[in-house]
Amino acid sequence: MERSTRRSVAVAHGDGIGPEIMDATLAILEAAGADLDIIPIKIGSAVYAEGITSGVSEEAWEAISATKVVLKAPVTTPQGGGVKSVNVTIRTAFGLFANVRPCLSYAPYVPTRYPGINLVIIRENEEDVYGGIEHRQSHDVAQALKLISRSGSERVVRYAFEYARHFGRKKVTCFSKDNILKMTDGLFHQVFNEVSSEYPDIQADHWIVDIGTARLADTPELFDVIVTPNLYGDIISDVAAEIAGSVGMAGSANIGARVAMFEAIHGSAPGIAGQNVANPSGLLQGAIQMLYHLGMGAVGSRINDAWLYTIESGVHTADIFDTVHSTQLAGTREFAAAVIANLGQVPRKLAKHQSAANPVSFSVAPTKRRLEEKRLIGVDAFFEWHQSPEELAQRVLSVNLDPFQLIMISNRGQTVYPSRRPETFLVDQYRCRLQAASPIGHGDLVSLLGRLVAVGLDLLKMEGLFEFDGIAGYSLGQGE
Ligand code: NAD
Repeated sequence: MERSTRRSVAVAHGDGIGPEIMDATLAILEAAGADLDIIPIKIGSAVYAEGITSGVSEEAWEAISATKVVLKAPVTTPQGGGVKSVNVTIRTAFGLFANVRPCLSYAPYVPTRYPGINLVIIRENEEDVYGGIEHRQSHDVAQALKLISRSGSERVVRYAFEYARHFGRKKVTCFSKDNILKMTDGLFHQVFNEVSSEYPDIQADHWIVDIGTARLADTPELFDVIVTPNLYGDIISDVAAEIAGSVGMAGSANIGARVAMFEAIHGSAPGIAGQNVANPSGLLQGAIQMLYHLGMGAVGSRINDAWLYTIESGVHTADIFDTVHSTQLAGTREFAAAVIANLGQVPRKLAKHQSAANPVSFSVAPTKRRLEEKRLIGVDAFFEWHQSPEELAQRVLSVNLDPFQLIMISNRGQTVYPSRRPETFLVDQYRCRLQAASPIGHGDLVSLLGRLVAVGLDLLKMEGLFEFDGIAGYSLGQGE
C-alpha cells in the first residue's frame, strides 16, 4: 500500500458542463478515498464578468502557486477581442510546457472504426501562435506572431522521448510543417532530430502535419507517441479522441517543472450544459493522471478499473451510447454513481488500457549551448501602401539608403519587386527588404527608418535581418 499524505489541489469548476462533470469527478475521487484537500478557485466567465481580462482571480493565482496542482473543468473562452484564454494564461504563466493527451479506443464497448488506437499526443503548450500576439497592421491586414524557441522545443521533445522510454513505448513521431515554415517548424524538427539521436532505443520519424493528420485519421495504429507544436497538437488531439470514440473520453495533463494542471481535452460544451447528459470521463481521466502525479497511483488505478468496468458493463452517457453494447443510458450523475458502485471491480477485457493512467511527471532541462555569433545585416520594413509596388520602390529609392540596398519588395510573402506577375493579388501591406553589404549597427537601422518615414511612408513594423555564425536567420521571399 502506498503511504497516503493529504495533498491540496486547486479545483476550478469551470463553465458550461464544467460544474456538473467536476461534481461527478469529485464524488468519484472522494468515494475512492483519494486523500485530497480541495481548494475551490474561480476562473473563467465569472471572473471575466468582474472585468478581469485574464479570467483568473487573484485568489486563484495564489491557490495555484501554493498547491502546485490544479484540476480544472473546461472554461468558455469568449470569441473575439477583449479577453484572453484562461487556459493559455495558466499554461504559460506556470510554465506548463508539455500537454500530454493519451488517446485510446475502448472497443467494442465504445463504437469506433479503429479498435486499436493506443497513442499519446504530446503537444507543445506555451509557444506557437498561442502567445496570442496579434495586431491589426493596416486597413486590410491582421497578423499573428508564431514563436518557436529552441529551448521550448527541446523541453517538450525531450519530455516525449523520456515519456516513451519510461512507459515502454517504441516510437516518437514529430509532426511539423517545415516544408513551408522553415525557420519556426524547421527549428522544431531540427531539435527533434538532435534529441532523437540521444535515444537510439526509441524509433523516431517525422511527418509533414497535413499528411500525418490524414494518416492519423485513417491508420492511427501507425503512431505511438506524437510530439508536435501547439496548434497542430490542439487540432490532432481532438481528431484522435473523436475517432477513438468521443472527445468526452480523453483527459489531459499540462506538465511544468513545478506546477501541473489536469483537465479533459474537450471544451465547456455550452449546448448540453445543465442537462445532466455530459460524459464526465474526460475530466475523470485527467483526475486519474493527477492522482498518479501526486503519488496516489493505487487509488488512481482503483478508479480507472472501476471506470473501465463501468464502460464494459454498458452504462454509457449519450455521446457513446449505442444499441449493441450499451445496457443503460446514464446521465452524468448516474454514470458517476455507477463508477462509485463499481469501485473494487476490475475490468475483464479493457485492462491493457490501464497504461493510459500512467504517471506523467518528469523534469527535463534544455541543454546549455554556445551562443552563435549574431550579426545585424539589414531590415525587413513593413509599410501600408495603396499604390503599385513599383511606385513604392520609387518612393523608397528616393531616400538616401546608404549603407543599405533595396533587395526586394514582397506582398503577403510573394516577391513583387523587382519583378512580378500581373496576376498576383495585392493587399495594402508590403515588406521592403533592405540589406547592407557589411554588418551594420542598430543606429544605422533606426536612422534609415527615420529617413523612410520622413518621405511619408507609413511604417507598420520592422524585423531585423540577422546572421548566426554566417547563416541567414530569415527566409527568402516567395520567388526571390
Ligand atoms: P467542445 O469540446 O465544448 O464541444 C464539441 C462537441 O463535443 C459538442 O458537440 C459537445 O456537445 C461535445 N462534447 C464535448 N464534451 C463533451 C462531453 N464531456 N460529453 C458529451 N459531449 C461532449 O468544443 P466547442 O463547442 O468548440 O467549445 C466550447 C467552448 O469551450 C469554447 O468557448 C472553447 O473556447 C472552450 N474550450 C475550452 C477548453 C478548455 O477549457 N480546456 C478546451 C476546448 C474548448
